[in-house]
Amino acid sequence: MTVRVRFAPSPTGMFHVGGARSALQNWIFAKQQGGVFVLRVEDTDAARNKPEWTEGILSALEWIGIARDTYEGPYFQSAYAGEHRAAAGRLHDAGRAYYCDCTREAVQARTGSQYQGYDGFCRDRGLPPGEGRALRFRTPDEGTTVVVDLIRGEPTFENKLIEDFVIARGDGSPVFLLANVVDDMTMGITHVIRAEEHLPNTPKQQLLWDALGVKPPVWAHVPVVVNEKRQKLSKRRDKVALEAYRDEGYLAAAMRNYLMLLGWAPSGDREIVPWSVIEEEFRLAEVNPSPAFFDEKKLRAFNGEYIRALPVDEFVAACRPWLTGTGTIAPPPWQPEEFDADAFAAVAPLAQTRIAVLSEIVPNVDFLFLADPLIDEAAWAKAMKEGAAELLDAAVAGYTALESWDAESLKSTLEAVGAERGLKLGKAQAPVRVAVTGRTVGLPLFESLEVLGRERTLARLRAARLRLV
Ligand code: GLU
Repeated sequence: MTVRVRFAPSPTGMFHVGGARSALQNWIFAKQQGGVFVLRVEDTDAARNKPEWTEGILSALEWIGIARDTYEGPYFQSAYAGEHRAAAGRLHDAGRAYYCDCTREAVQARTGSQYQGYDGFCRDRGLPPGEGRALRFRTPDEGTTVVVDLIRGEPTFENKLIEDFVIARGDGSPVFLLANVVDDMTMGITHVIRAEEHLPNTPKQQLLWDALGVKPPVWAHVPVVVNEKRQKLSKRRDKVALEAYRDEGYLAAAMRNYLMLLGWAPSGDREIVPWSVIEEEFRLAEVNPSPAFFDEKKLRAFNGEYIRALPVDEFVAACRPWLTGTGTIAPPPWQPEEFDADAFAAVAPLAQTRIAVLSEIVPNVDFLFLADPLIDEAAWAKAMKEGAAELLDAAVAGYTALESWDAESLKSTLEAVGAERGLKLGKAQAPVRVAVTGRTVGLPLFESLEVLGRERTLARLRAARLRLV
């Protein structure tokens, strides 16, 4: 039997990193099993869905390595409404579901306000369908439902503790629990790999599979993803959108490797491994069922390592969207015509070892492209202390006389200027750096000046000197 898995996102917002993790796990599992990965967009919540969220999911999946030609679909759940209703009808006709007109208030008046479930009042009333009548599944009174879960063993649920749950609303529309099962059946899904938050739905869903007479899938509930406070990552509190990480300059290769480490690790105490190793070694059954900590600091460090490992020309190409402000990425502070690709290529190797996310390239190189540097006033105040004006004068004099404009000569000249004033190079550098780049930290100074060129460097030193008058 061919393995068929699915990833079934609801297009109700940005694409959650936890979702991306589940998608990758499904995709690798399918690949390992020679199976099929199905993408199903669960778009039945018309009030919350937007087509652009769907497009966002597809392109985010593509970015992370799940290309559109490697899966079946996307199917859209809304196209299967007829199947959902037909299944509800079959369950009713077989006596496995019944109509109910109880309001929550009526149930609570009978049971007490603490009780959240349903007391079975309408079970044997034989109500016909009608406006406002929900359809409830008649759960078995006895026995247990055993879920086979590749990660969690065999969670067992007492049927008598499972309430008669709603499968279609008062307006006849099937609810998630049923639509999701019917689609999995229609699409021949053999393994349902999804987030742990759906585990409580699983006994109910498995009862539906049984009642509809189809062998249920094997389940795998992958761990919930939590923040440093052990809270489930939430879009209101945490940075959860895969797109946000992409736009900040995380590399897809780093991101997907990191996502796969949530609850699992490759052999030999390694974390950074080629994707092919992950594809080969990943075992769903080895995924740790406990909550997985999404450690943004670790991800940053991880990304920095991936950036440093890039060949320089790939690094240069990878930075391009931040240098030009392409697509969803904010434009840089300089005008497009001020950008100089050769100057950037010259400093790129210096920047490559210093940044953890690609967006950090902008403040590191803006001094090269802006007509005037963006002066950070706090940096200015710190660097332009007593003696700064004289030091800048001496630097201008030394640099004007310089024969060869190269980093080595720029450095030895400033070293000499500093020495005359009893200053170590670091101290002598500070006013020059702020005058030229506007900041106290940045790329190695003398290489930066070499690339910036004689004229622009001298103009900036003079401009800073004038400010000190
Ligand atoms: N649309 C559901 C979700 O996004 C899918 C649940 C499932 O994978 O079965 O949570």
